[in-house]
This record gives sequence, C-alpha cells and structure tokens, in this order.
Amino acid sequence: MADNSCKRCLLYEMAGNEDVKSQLEKTKSLMSPGEKVSDEKYEKRLSQCKNCDSLLNATCLKCGCYVEIRALADGARCPSKKW
Ligand code: SF4
Repeated sequence: MADNSCKRCLLYEMAGNEDVKSQLEKTKSLMSPGEKVSDEKYEKRLSQCKNCDSLLNATCLKCGCYVEIRALADGARCPSKKW
C-alpha cells in the first residue's frame, strides 16, 4: 500500500484538506492584530516547522496541532522550543 503521508508539507502545499484550509482562513480573519504574529515572524516559524522532524502532513507530532494554525498566535510556542 502506498504511503500518502507528506513529511514536511504544509496545508497550502497539499491537495484536499479544504475544511482545515477554510478553518485557517477563518481563524486568521477573526484574530486581532495584537493576537496575531507579524507576517515575517509567521513565515519564520513555518520555515522552522518545515525543517523539523516532527512535522507530518502539516501536523506537529509533538502537540497534534496544524502548525499553520498554531503558529498564528503571537503567544503560541513550539513544544520543542524551536520558536
Ligand atoms: S516541534 Fe515545533 S518546529 Fe517542530 S513541527 Fe512542532 S511546532 Fe513546528
């Protein structure tokens, strides 16, 4: 059986998952500027996730979160202290 898991993929890179992608956009739109990280910090966080062995199918294996959602909040932290 083929392994369809995508190590190092984020949601925007994967086909399907439209419900989660929609949830991500909704979460972004509902957060106030004070709650949300800057675009630069967000991209830096996601870049660290993409180079992390704990990323699988856009999900962090350490905390079970979709990293694109977790990384949005300024107060959120990486469970492995990478960001
Ligand atoms: S451990 Fe940290 S850097 Fe790695 S995938 Fe999870 S949130 Fe991202």
